Amino acid sequence: ETGLDRNPANYVPLTPVSLLARAAASVGGRVAIIDGARRLTYADLYTRCRRLASGLARRGIGRLDTVAILAPNVAEMIEAHFAVPMLGAVLNPLNTRLDPATIAFSLDHGGARVLIVEAEYGALAARALADRAGPILVVEIGTSGIAGAVPYETLLAEGDPAYAWPGPADEWQSLCLLYTSGTTGDPKGAVYSHRGAYLQALGNAVTFGFTAESAYLWTLPMFHCSGWSYPWASVAACATQICLRKVEPAAIFALIAEHGVTHLCGAPIVLSMIAHAPASDRVPFRQRVRCAVGGAAPSSTIIRTMEDLGFQVTHLYGATESYGPATVCLEQPDWADLPDDDRYARMARQGVALATLEAAIVADPDTDQPVLQDGLTVGEICLRGNTVMKGYLGNPDATARALAGGWYRTGDLAVWHPDGSVEIKDRAKDIIISGGENISSLEVEEVLMRHPAVMLAAVVARPDATWGESPCAFLEMKPGATAPTDRELIDFCRERMARFKVPKTVVFGPLPKTSTGKIQKFVLREQARAL
Ligand code: ADP
Repeated sequence: ETGLDRNPANYVPLTPVSLLARAAASVGGRVAIIDGARRLTYADLYTRCRRLASGLARRGIGRLDTVAILAPNVAEMIEAHFAVPMLGAVLNPLNTRLDPATIAFSLDHGGARVLIVEAEYGALAARALADRAGPILVVEIGTSGIAGAVPYETLLAEGDPAYAWPGPADEWQSLCLLYTSGTTGDPKGAVYSHRGAYLQALGNAVTFGFTAESAYLWTLPMFHCSGWSYPWASVAACATQICLRKVEPAAIFALIAEHGVTHLCGAPIVLSMIAHAPASDRVPFRQRVRCAVGGAAPSSTIIRTMEDLGFQVTHLYGATESYGPATVCLEQPDWADLPDDDRYARMARQGVALATLEAAIVADPDTDQPVLQDGLTVGEICLRGNTVMKGYLGNPDATARALAGGWYRTGDLAVWHPDGSVEIKDRAKDIIISGGENISSLEVEEVLMRHPAVMLAAVVARPDATWGESPCAFLEMKPGATAPTDRELIDFCRERMARFKVPKTVVFGPLPKTSTGKIQKFVLREQARAL
């Protein structure tokens, strides 16, 4: 195509920061953020971000420097997601529920030059800082109690509101550093690029149906995979973000009603908390609220319960390594005619690649070949495309393993259906092998969750003299429900699944959860071993 070559004048490196510049220039008066009594318009947000970027630049922070942040879901957390990338620096959101030693590990490993800390986590930050050496600029939001900390607002006041931010030199430049939640061992620092984050933001905005009328409630911790890219996705759509410091049903219902919330996200545990909220916490609302669930497998029961309450559920699957959501369970046209049980079971499938990911396939881990799309053959979910991490910071071996052959190997075992959707059976290490038969812990949990008294179920392998392993079920009851006897529960399972899959042991009590609300199966495995 002579004369139709690439036009360098129209080539602009992709970066999510440009989404904010555009929103401020086009709908500057629209409310971008509601945080308690505070309201920030898009013009305010852009100005504050430029001030923060400039304030940091004046203190010597620039391209590829790491800026860590330890904060709840407050406006400043959203600001950092734009201001730090404006400098071409790297944002490292820290998991606020971790212990000081792990936070110190991340600060050292990530080479943080700045730590922005919100008052609530001042004591935690102080303990983490005491565990490490080396200079670091501490910036405090509110009063942290850390000696020498610079107030966040002082930094902003020093900054230039019209700062001509440099942005990244190249769209592949690193933008975020996210440590995995460590469900499977030592935290690893996944690195995102500007290009990937930009595309992930657009992919999520489309998938979740964001428009300028959307009001997104922050029930998902923003430190988790950069809030699944929603700080940027919301701005791409010129939507309003509503901050929430603590995930409590009463506050969630109140904000939904007060601000006309249309979208929220959370792990299944968050949905379960909303679904089982006491009547006194509930406030009626009239609008349609879309609720994205992911981070762990939702049972079809919780999807159904939420839909019965008037929420519209979107099921997403992904990992820190894939900037959060990589697949979405897209409803097929014929599902509407299915009986409810079947339709909700389909909605519990992990689904198909987001529009901005090239592919999500199921491959045989030994041959690397795609498995048959027969809904039966089990393989490993592999992801490829622009929204797969660049790699793990300072960890070439783990990077090479995770990205071998150009695909991100998730370690999630799944089947692939004829309609192209993937359905997880288990994480590789969670599968139970009993008498030589593989048992999917998720399948057994799915049945247990249908019991009317059960709120949460987790099934793990317990060593068994005869069978090698046998399924052991840990159950948390719904508030006020009476626990069934072991016998009743085992009978309930027998009627609904193959004999060899029925739990041989049942334990009642609260389940241990990770900082991101996932059930800690490794803790349960140890408990099962000790029974
Ligand atoms: P960690 O690996 O430390 O738990 P991540 O947040 O990166 O931290 O977890 C990603 C993993 O979470 C996925 O590989 C998968 O096992 C699980 N996961 C995420 N979303 C879903 C989902 N919708 N259904 C089932 N499992 C999920």
